[in-house]
Amino acid sequence: MRPEYARGYFEELLDQEFISEGDSRFIQDHFETVKSSATDTDHSPHSISTAGEKRYTSTVDRRLRDHRLVEEIKEIYSNKCQICRDHRLKDKNVGYSEVHHIQPLGRPHVGADVKKNMIVLCPNHHSDFDNGVVSIDPDSREIDHLYENAVDGQVLRSHRSHTIAKEYLRYHINEISVL
Ligand SMILES: [Zn+2]
Repeated sequence: MRPEYARGYFEELLDQEFISEGDSRFIQDHFETVKSSATDTDHSPHSISTAGEKRYTSTVDRRLRDHRLVEEIKEIYSNKCQICRDHRLKDKNVGYSEVHHIQPLGRPHVGADVKKNMIVLCPNHHSDFDNGVVSIDPDSREIDHLYENAVDGQVLRSHRSHTIAKEYLRYHINEISVL
């Protein structure tokens, strides 16, 4: 498998409920191996090297997070993306959304596993957060998107019972965003 395709493949695997802790560790170790060999031998612009570092961390995050809080926050937003309000389904009448830790949990970011550090997203905007092509202004809550005019400049959708802490939005801007 080409290293640049490995990230998506392993992320999919780690998100599956049937993967045991042991298997999860094996997959993460293997991903680490792929990442190292990509750094050592593949210098093409698409290889997972320095830029891949953040992506690897976010892969691990999806495994470590508190599933109770994740379910609670998805419920608050009825599985609608806070950026674009898109509402996906994973079955008839069963909503689907993803929760992202704005300051990722794994090293080197070591973010907190709290609702104030979480945002409910559609799969596209989850990727955009991981890749740092979208960010949120901590004060105005305005969305800054690299290329998507439909959301750029809009105000982030927010529920009265959920406030994202400014410190995490600032961290994302300083450490992850490419904007
Ligand atoms: Zn979205």
